[in-house]
Amino acid sequence: MSIIRKWSSKQQRALEILIRLKRLYPNATCTLNYETPVQLLVATILSAQCTDERVNQVTPLLFGRFPDAVAIATADLAELETLVRSTGFYRNKAKNIQAACRMIMEKFGGKVPKRMEQLLELPGVARKTANVVLAHAYGINQGVTVDTHVKRLSNRLGLTEHADPIRIERDLIRLLPQPDWENWSIRLIYHGRAVCTARNPKCDACALADLCPAANLPQIDSPVQETKSSGIVPAAKR
Ligand code: SF4
Repeated sequence: MSIIRKWSSKQQRALEILIRLKRLYPNATCTLNYETPVQLLVATILSAQCTDERVNQVTPLLFGRFPDAVAIATADLAELETLVRSTGFYRNKAKNIQAACRMIMEKFGGKVPKRMEQLLELPGVARKTANVVLAHAYGINQGVTVDTHVKRLSNRLGLTEHADPIRIERDLIRLLPQPDWENWSIRLIYHGRAVCTARNPKCDACALADLCPAANLPQIDSPVQETKSSGIVPAAKR
């Protein structure tokens, strides 16, 4: 029986995928290490085009030396660059985390704002970072985080036909209950790392195969990068 006939609507299929992801990854959580909203913001900015594992290797030293917004805002930029160097794009990232912390100090009373539109004012922060910070620092599900894994899997699972993360997020918001928006992304990221990898997805071992129109099809993907202007764009446009 085809996937389309078995699951009468895309939404039903999305909800069944959500149930299975919860079963598969019951303890899934944000894999970045942080103690405060500012540290989460900084770690998330550093995670662009970098693994969370690498960011977690860098942040103990970074946050040991500069633990809060005021310390980062007044840090020597060259020292910041050295500390975040191994996360890639280090000049831009150091500049952005310092500028973001300065704005937090000058405009938001030393606290990471809790509103999407204010978060988007911060240098280096687009919707992906803002969604992560709102969900994990404040427990606010304002949107669906769309990173490279969420983009790839949402397309393969036939829940969106878009490449633009903003449009993907819009499609997912329509399909999923708001309280599950962030845990959807976290679990999809786990599944993307463990099973539905960019190259050679393990469809034969995938617990979502009967729900997936792309099961056992040849896969072609391009990585994405978060940008201030549009959220995330395909690597080919960089
Ligand atoms: S069946 Fe294959 S393509 Fe579909 S989600 Fe699973 S691993 Fe990915």
